[in-house]
Amino acid sequence: MTFESLGLSPELLRAVADQGYTEPSPIQAQAIPVILAGQDVQAAAQTGTGKTAGFTLPILQRLQPLANTSVSPAKHPIRCLVLTPTRELAAQVEASVKTYSKYIPLRSTVIYGGVNMDPQIKALQGGVEIVVATPGRLLDHVQQRTINLSQVEILVLDEADRMLDMGFIPDIRRIVALLPARRQNLLFSATFSDDIKKLSGGLLTTPVTIEVARRNATADLVRQVVYHAHKDRKRELLTHLIRTLPIEQAIVFMRTKHGANRLCSQLVRDGINAEAIHSDKTQAHRTQSLTDFKGGQVKILVATDIAARGLDVDQMPYVVNYELPHVPEDYVHRIGRTGRAGSPGNAISLVCDEESRELAEIEKLIKTKIELVAIEGFDQPGLSEGGAREARGPRSGEGTTSHRERPVHRERPAREERSARSEAPHNSAPRTTEAELPRAAANEKPVRRTQDDSTRPSASQSHFSRPPIASLGKKPREVPALLGGFPKKPA
Ligand code: AMP
Repeated sequence: MTFESLGLSPELLRAVADQGYTEPSPIQAQAIPVILAGQDVQAAAQTGTGKTAGFTLPILQRLQPLANTSVSPAKHPIRCLVLTPTRELAAQVEASVKTYSKYIPLRSTVIYGGVNMDPQIKALQGGVEIVVATPGRLLDHVQQRTINLSQVEILVLDEADRMLDMGFIPDIRRIVALLPARRQNLLFSATFSDDIKKLSGGLLTTPVTIEVARRNATADLVRQVVYHAHKDRKRELLTHLIRTLPIEQAIVFMRTKHGANRLCSQLVRDGINAEAIHSDKTQAHRTQSLTDFKGGQVKILVATDIAARGLDVDQMPYVVNYELPHVPEDYVHRIGRTGRAGSPGNAISLVCDEESRELAEIEKLIKTKIELVAIEGFDQPGLSEGGAREARGPRSGEGTTSHRERPVHRERPAREERSARSEAPHNSAPRTTEAELPRAAANEKPVRRTQDDSTRPSASQSHFSRPPIASLGKKPREVPALLGGFPKKPA
């Protein structure tokens, strides 16, 4: 697959080549032809998948025929509006628009709050075809009549789920009401909650659904481990791991706000500096907790899935699933918070017997068996006996291995085979081949499951395909799902 084969114009291909991109990423390969064809799109894709170029390139191409070099602002009505939840993202997207429109006479500007409006008004008066904006400040311009949205042909909602979390949906509805009814709509969101489905159902017309996951999701940089524990002992195990691995900082995921509050208090009682963030906490409190976390004063951020979605923390060495999510896709989103920006990451899941079904669904989705590590004193026989995998200790933030382990073989039938016979755990004693290496602090005992390595996904298979997300709104046509990711730039 090449950018040429996607039907992009020579000017755009040149701009892409200038960036050193050799191949389109999965979202680009899927989205570009559909957007070029003028169709509405709803895409599940996060930052890091190449989504910005995925919508910017075809938009520029669609706007290109009418591009002109006239200096009259009247000849440059706003034809594309991109809405983003944050100032940073708005600035980033507009920078991409400028990068890719280098050889095309289309103009763009960025509009967000917290800065003087005058330069923005001046830019708008000068005439721009593409506006990237945050909703609040855009509405300020609408109120002051310094912007005219009556000729918008394409609307993009970027990180729609985050806009929803941040309470922007009423603003978005007010903005949409100002746009021509006939337009192309593109909606990008990390996940598709019921609220997002409702939003896209009302906004999009027969959208094409595209789904890709974060580039690093379950990729080589993220070491995934399951610790098996009784549900009543998870808190104790977590404290133990925090102290012994050690875990300097982590986001710990919970299913409920109540659970997050309770765990947070327990950790604090254990002398671990923790903060809970969820939707019952005020925005000010959440912002403060995040600032303290980024500053290192808070060690553990206990979060629900929704609250964690707006978090932007790079270089997170550990993500802990204290409870597995109900929806397997959320696992991919959760662990995508670690192993970013080229640094190694660890995704730890504390799994009790009651969660074996969720674990199986996650493993099915990511097409890989997550390695299982047993810790003496915490382990239970049941779970540790399914599947198979090689066990290594989690990576530390610096890339050194703080856990030195060797696998312990258990000659057991594969989980599928066992469950076909009975769900009851196998009780015969494990055949330990070796365990003499010191297990730093945790008495950690990796368990090798009976699947041979040939069935493990190779690096090239780490971009697993996923089932298409549920159809939203008006009978979308679904494109086969792919994971995000693209080849590295040539050196
Ligand atoms: P995004 O997901 O849009 O935030 O993009 C993530 C990063 O990937 C940006 O730094 C882009 O410059 C880069 N990128 C986008 N498309 C490609 C591509 N086809 N090949 C290599 N890098 C890319």
